[in-house]
Amino acid sequence: EQSRTPLMAGNWKMNLNHLEAIAHTQKLAFGLTDKDFAAVEVAILVPFTDMRSVQTLVDGDRLKIKYGAQDISAHDSGAYTGEISGPMLSKLKCSYVAVGHSERRQYHGEDEEIVNAKAKAAFRNGLTPIVCIGEGLDVRKAGRQVPHTLAQLDGALKDIPVAQAATIVIAYEPVWAIGTGEVATPEDAQEVCGAIRARLAELYDQETADAVRIQYGGSVKAGNVAAIMAQPDVDGALVGGAALDADEFVKIVRFRD
Ligand code: PEP
Repeated sequence: EQSRTPLMAGNWKMNLNHLEAIAHTQKLAFGLTDKDFAAVEVAILVPFTDMRSVQTLVDGDRLKIKYGAQDISAHDSGAYTGEISGPMLSKLKCSYVAVGHSERRQYHGEDEEIVNAKAKAAFRNGLTPIVCIGEGLDVRKAGRQVPHTLAQLDGALKDIPVAQAATIVIAYEPVWAIGTGEVATPEDAQEVCGAIRARLAELYDQETADAVRIQYGGSVKAGNVAAIMAQPDVDGALVGGAALDADEFVKIVRFRD
């Protein structure tokens, strides 16, 4: 457990144009220190139109901030108007890509098959997928959050070999907690994150399960991140709204202080 480096990732969603992205990334670069990067991995998931600007900054200043996309096409090229492919993303040296974010599931009809195909597209192109899973309010009220979320996990990982699975990032994001200000309790987060790790051990083996980083996402802020990160099976946070405030995000990265 101690060997997993926490991954603190900011999901900008559809915010910040490429000029604003430069200003924001520079603020992060000024705020974060080598001490931070020794303790945690920091990533920003940016709009496609921001990626080239962010890459130029990160390359030029040798920033230790990792960056990634919020979605990826399941296909590597072809007649898929409007989509962005894995080869395009890896050419921009991005590290991560979110797959199956609840907003993609909700507004773009992404089902388990698509999420699985996108996770495979990420691996095929040398990108690490951050696979987002989690239950809605109705499922939570029915007390079915664990079986629901594990079914999403099973679907996302279908036919993904163990060597790839060991490097995946899973984000447990209860939909009722995303953008609502209603954060899960640390115990709620641990219940599902622990169940996810146990399922990974069943699907693969314990060593693989112990290697995978499991993030919590849903209204994470500087004020609540420490208690969530203290849970044994929570290895990071996927942060939406609070990641748009550079000072707040730096505080979240410094959750141990
Ligand atoms: C998210 O977009 O993944 C998220 C968790 O959003 P928020 O932090 O705003 O709830």
